[in-house]
Amino acid sequence: MPICEYCGRNISDSSVRSHKRVCFSSSDVSEQIKKGLIEISPLGVIISSHHYPSASSSLDCFMPSISTLKREFGTWDAVAAWAGLQPRRMFYGVYMEASKNFIIDLAGRFHCDGVGPSEEEYDSERPEHIAPSIFLCGRYSDWGDVLAWAGFTWESDDYYKLRKRERDIEAELRRRRRNSIRSRLASVERVLVERNSDYLSGMPVSSSPAPAVVYDWVRRFPYECSITGLR
Ligand SMILES: [Zn+2]
Repeated sequence: MPICEYCGRNISDSSVRSHKRVCFSSSDVSEQIKKGLIEISPLGVIISSHHYPSASSSLDCFMPSISTLKREFGTWDAVAAWAGLQPRRMFYGVYMEASKNFIIDLAGRFHCDGVGPSEEEYDSERPEHIAPSIFLCGRYSDWGDVLAWAGFTWESDDYYKLRKRERDIEAELRRRRRNSIRSRLASVERVLVERNSDYLSGMPVSSSPAPAVVYDWVRRFPYECSITGLR
């Protein structure tokens, strides 16, 4: 009977190849499993064993079953420690902390003067690993109290509507400016190609004024130019 070169166990002839892919003593296998666990546990707290089967099956790599992991490490907390993740009982605190930090982040992005995000803004921007507003409202009675917990105040619905309209207008202006730069850039490129047709193809014409124009745009509209690929 062959012996596994990693764990030293006796392996039956028929399972030598399959064992190599799942042997925890092989550093390749264990690194891959740790990486997988960290990937599906974005808060740094191990995923619940209830959600593990569906989450791990979404990964491209081999991930062992719950029973294999528990047989290998004893408990789910021990699996967490092995992967460098926090045990499950840490979840609530980490979840709430991440949600509070997300509120702080949104307030900085959307508002000023200590006003927090609206419930609608929060839910529409919220990544999966952050608590839904309904969860926080259940804990703190209403959205105003949730914002107070995070150190912010709630404003009137009119205020949030107005801020949203302002942001939409800003985005529209940015979009128009970007499009106008794109079309001007296209026309400069056209002129360059036309003027260059008598010369070597692909070589720029040295007398063209276009580069100066382009440099001027890059200086004046760095954000839009980076989006149009101008620099
Ligand atoms: Zn082995």
